[in-house]
Amino acid sequence: MSRLPIIAGNWKMNNTIKETKELLTALIPLVKDAKCEVAVCVPYTSIAAAGDLLRGTNIKLGAENIHWADKGAFTGEISADMLKELNVEYVIVGHSERRQYFGETDETVNKRAKAALSKGIKPIICVGELLNERESGKTDEVVIRQTNGAFVGIDAAELKNIVIAYEPVWAIGTGKTATSEDADKTIAVIRNAVKELYGKGAADAMRIQYGGSMNAKNVAELMAMPNIDGGLIGGASLKAEDFKNVVLYR
Ligand code: PEP
Repeated sequence: MSRLPIIAGNWKMNNTIKETKELLTALIPLVKDAKCEVAVCVPYTSIAAAGDLLRGTNIKLGAENIHWADKGAFTGEISADMLKELNVEYVIVGHSERRQYFGETDETVNKRAKAALSKGIKPIICVGELLNERESGKTDEVVIRQTNGAFVGIDAAELKNIVIAYEPVWAIGTGKTATSEDADKTIAVIRNAVKELYGKGAADAMRIQYGGSMNAKNVAELMAMPNIDGGLIGGASLKAEDFKNVVLYR
């Protein structure tokens, strides 16, 4: 089964509008011949400016979070309609920083993913174990629980619009990467969880990224693994040249 890899930047809380314009102006020509799908998930305040610059390019526009309600008394939150109006195509849900610092749970991840799908926005659903979970041999149990939780009530017809990102939390922003074998093995566990839920065809078709200190040096080795279908890139997405070197890994 050949799956088109997707490499997405996660800018986190970085880049003003001015910096967004500078970064994307430099990036667009550098990645125009990419052989994979490319996306940048940017802070809410940068979405409109990024959308203007990315129109007509091969870089897809993404956001970093979404609320599940259509509208209402949710101060500080952003709805699917608001993102849709800005032509957002992808949205990260359940990033470990949201789980750790903002009380995100498997249930809210599921609600956010469903809200995105209901408006035609593709969720990048993040799963991954904490260091102590890895050290106590719970990695598989954690990613299976998170995967099962994220997909509750999601129709099989929607699966083509979902990307999963396996991000071991201890590897995010730390410079530590899972070995390509470990990453591949855990992604196979996640793929098997999708198989248990939706069957082999769906599991084989599901794109599952690796994320966690992925950069120009380790991208080729990680991408050579059979289960790894791209990357969610934090630090190495913040400079055009660095991100280009990840995107053009082959
Ligand atoms: C991330 O934020 O999803 C991430 C993987 O960050 P980094 O690449 O910096 O580890």
